[in-house]
Amino acid sequence: MTFPPLREELRGLLPYGAPQLPIDEVPVQLNVNENPYGPSDACVADIASAVAVAAATLNRYPDREFTELRAALAAYLSGDTSASVGPEQVWAANGSNEVMLQLLQAFGGPGRLALSFAPTYSMYPEYARDTVTEWVEGRREDDFTLDLDRARALVEERRPSVVLLPSPNNPTGTALAPEAVTVLCDAVGDGLVVVDEAYGEFRRDGTPSALDLLPTHRNLVVTRTMSKAFALAGGRLGYLAAHPAICDAIRVVRLPYHLSAVTQATALAALRHAPELLARVDDLRKERDATVDWLRDRGHDVADSDANFVLFGTFADRHAVWQGLLDRGVLIREVGPSGWLRVSVGTPEEMGAFREALVHVTEEQR
Ligand SMILES: *Cc1c(COP(=O)(O)O)cnc(C)c1O
Repeated sequence: MTFPPLREELRGLLPYGAPQLPIDEVPVQLNVNENPYGPSDACVADIASAVAVAAATLNRYPDREFTELRAALAAYLSGDTSASVGPEQVWAANGSNEVMLQLLQAFGGPGRLALSFAPTYSMYPEYARDTVTEWVEGRREDDFTLDLDRARALVEERRPSVVLLPSPNNPTGTALAPEAVTVLCDAVGDGLVVVDEAYGEFRRDGTPSALDLLPTHRNLVVTRTMSKAFALAGGRLGYLAAHPAICDAIRVVRLPYHLSAVTQATALAALRHAPELLARVDDLRKERDATVDWLRDRGHDVADSDANFVLFGTFADRHAVWQGLLDRGVLIREVGPSGWLRVSVGTPEEMGAFREALVHVTEEQR
């Protein structure tokens, strides 16, 4: 055995690593789909005093079942769906990444399969690898949608225990067709369909949330996060809504007291300010649609987006375009199918800087 005694299949692999550059060097950061608007002074003060109260009892372990937070998350979700969601249907962890890892710890594992359709979120195969779950990848169509007949056939052939489907998809922005959830929940039998709605609040009018289908499919899991629309990426709080038996099963694999008292206090305070934190979502959706239109007017290919980012291309040398933008102080993401780039939607000023930089870079390369 060589030192350190890393698992054979992990040798030589690199950790997740979107560049984190100092804001004074790169003023326009549009690469990890954060919300560009920070919390208000009132919200900051409320979080700070809630954390101060929690600090006085930090000698004790936190509420292992985060009862108050589950109720607050259930109430918030019930406002975003025609179905109502109860606290016993909610589970939370340190970011929805941890929620999904716990799902694979509980429902994946050796001899089992997890399945998604590429191009999609780069972390899914990592949860599978880390839980020794076999990873199976179908393909999306050229417009990044799913062909439901082919998707169903693949699920029926491979019989995964977990299907991971982001809606909207990252990095393409593509929402699932409303009938996709029903078709795949039926196809997967007793397996789970996890619809990752990290960007759910940004969906366009007329695009439904999978939350609406929870009452009709007991094997459906919908994950959400406070990292994107809620402008709380630094708070690390992700959650899911599902059948209570699914939440109960996850309790077997979670680490004891995984949600710190500070995290619970922060998330609860932020939820009290939900209307204010979410107020900018509409502005961001408009800015997104304007960005899509502008890029199309300039002759780029642009994927339809229901998220707070836009995938556009295609460039013979996308790295040169990415670097050219960075040289002008604009950081975007080199991700997705070859030739494409992804830009997160920022403030109007940030998007102005992005547009100006892109015009320069593409004209230079002509
Ligand atoms: C950003 C993102 C998440 C959320 O991650 P957190 O761990 O909640 O910060 C989940 N899924 C996708 C597809 C994402 O892009």
